[in-house]
Amino acid sequence: MVSNRRMERRSANLQTVKLSNLTLIFSLINQMESVSRAELAQMAELSPTTVSSLVDELIAGGMVREVGMGETATSGRKPIMLEVDPAGGTVAAVELRRNGYCLELFDLKANRRVAMEEDVPDYSRMGENLIRGIRRALHRAGVPESKLFGISVGVPGVIDKTTGRVISSTILPIDEENPFFDELRDRFPDIKLRLGNESCFSAYMEKVQRKQIHSLVYVEINEGIGAGIVVNDHIFTGAFGNAGELGHVSVDLNGPRCKCGNRGCLELLANVPAIREKLAASSLGRTGDVSFEEARCALELGDAEVLSAIESICSLLASGINSMINILNPEAVIVGGEIIQLGDVFLHILKKKIDEISFKPGTQKVTVEFSAVKGNPVTQGGARYLLDRIFQDGGFVIG
Ligand SMILES: [Zn+2]
Repeated sequence: MVSNRRMERRSANLQTVKLSNLTLIFSLINQMESVSRAELAQMAELSPTTVSSLVDELIAGGMVREVGMGETATSGRKPIMLEVDPAGGTVAAVELRRNGYCLELFDLKANRRVAMEEDVPDYSRMGENLIRGIRRALHRAGVPESKLFGISVGVPGVIDKTTGRVISSTILPIDEENPFFDELRDRFPDIKLRLGNESCFSAYMEKVQRKQIHSLVYVEINEGIGAGIVVNDHIFTGAFGNAGELGHVSVDLNGPRCKCGNRGCLELLANVPAIREKLAASSLGRTGDVSFEEARCALELGDAEVLSAIESICSLLASGINSMINILNPEAVIVGGEIIQLGDVFLHILKKKIDEISFKPGTQKVTVEFSAVKGNPVTQGGARYLLDRIFQDGGFVIG
């Protein structure tokens, strides 16, 4: 019995080593534009025979493909080069919205293959709707379910990390009784699933786009205000999953009562509807057009009333953002969401307000800039997060 158990353990260990070597080779091929088997053996410090057999397995599974001959320094045989086959796997990235969801499929090279939006009038049926949507998207992309390696779901809400439930959201009609994520887990038990605050995925996408930056805060200003935090290239969500709840930091202790129970929350006083209200009370209100496009023009033309309205909003935003800078000491603060339509004058005022109240020795090197992500940052960030985990930790299926 003992020796049988030992053999089983040895076999399990060998299987683990093989899987981790397979992931290592797959990851190295992904990092290089194209690479030969000999180069892989050198980088992975594995024997050429082991590498060849792992590469054969990845090719047979459709994860890697040969892409012609490479160059060689000597007059010897030219090596066959390898690259990740984008069609070797797929991840689904979801963003939950007030009336439904947006779902996008990405291949292994993070190319978007399918994008769809669905209305879900009854939020208690979100789970079955998502499962149906994912199956439909896979069908549309011509991808078998065995090639679905992960699903990310971004939500504007508070998540309980331990139960994987959305506890509350000031935007979505959802509470912790809603089992949509459990239903996804039951239906897709063997792949990577990640439920996250949407700002976290957006923050991750900003990091992907800025290779030289490793720690940043992404501040999203829409109807809700939230922050996503990346520290040393990893999403930081805190012990219970709620780091970055910038919108519910009070900036006026005597202010109006927020849905969350606090007074004077930043989200209540400086979100997009609050800004529109301020603009409506300025000279723009008299013209009847309080669009951000008009506000941007008025700011560029130096309209005193619009400037004053935006300065008061920026003072509130600066108060919240400055706290995050002081506590986290990031390399950059990235501002995203609808608010960026207010343009560069808005950004200039925001930076000035942050500078006025900043703690100088610690914050001088922090840059404050607009998001540069094109398309949906929540789905793209969720997909990139999953793909990075797959290349780092495995979790892909061969065959
Ligand atoms: Zn609040």
